[in-house]
Amino acid sequence: MQDNAIHQGLRKKLMAELKAKGISDSRILEAFWLNPRHWFIDPEFFAWAYKDTAFKIDSSQTISQPFTVAFMTSLLEVKSGEKILEIGTGSGYQACILNSLGAKVYTIERHEKLYQKASQLLSDIGHRTIRTLHGDGYKGAPRFAPFDKIIVTAGASDIPHTLLQQLKIGGLMVIPSGDDDTQLMYRIKKLSDSQYTKEEHGSFSFVPFLEGVV
Ligand code: SAH
Repeated sequence: MQDNAIHQGLRKKLMAELKAKGISDSRILEAFWLNPRHWFIDPEFFAWAYKDTAFKIDSSQTISQPFTVAFMTSLLEVKSGEKILEIGTGSGYQACILNSLGAKVYTIERHEKLYQKASQLLSDIGHRTIRTLHGDGYKGAPRFAPFDKIIVTAGASDIPHTLLQQLKIGGLMVIPSGDDDTQLMYRIKKLSDSQYTKEEHGSFSFVPFLEGVV
């Protein structure tokens, strides 16, 4: 995989832009440096990789906006060694950012084509410890539960109880939830099997969290 001076220059600029937008954790910025975003989109559109916007990938899905990835990552307060479940592998980019922060990442995608493509890419670029799964994220990954953290990267109409059940006590879940156009970013903390706190962190727009596999 290529990563030349042009890519690197654009990436440094993007990192500065994220910093200016309030991403202050140097570990997160370093993870952006370590994961060249142009590897996750079609090569002919490489210049788009370093703009702070979402971009199309296969199966009518998107790789999330860099700021959104950085923001959700900061809400997760990732610590090395934590077990994190991501719903919505897409391009695999968010999973790689979490992996670069030392998390043990499990990621689920409902589109078989995206699952195959991301699995191959993650292995090719050296993120071999990320466990990719083809399945319905509404069901979580009971075989590997409980998780320290759960991140949902598609817009949900509600907050799935099954996912909350798969969170450790003291664990955090970051999930955008709302209607088809806009969602509020929630950070939920599990205090006990029946008690949670829920914070709101602004408005975002994601592709929908849909049931079933394709
Ligand atoms: N995290 C991704 C962003 C992908 S967009 C990245 O870094 O590129 C959201 C993804 O969620 C899409 O690929 C979509 O297919 C997937 N998705 C939607 N509903 C899902 C479900 N029920 N289970 C698993 N994946 C789902």
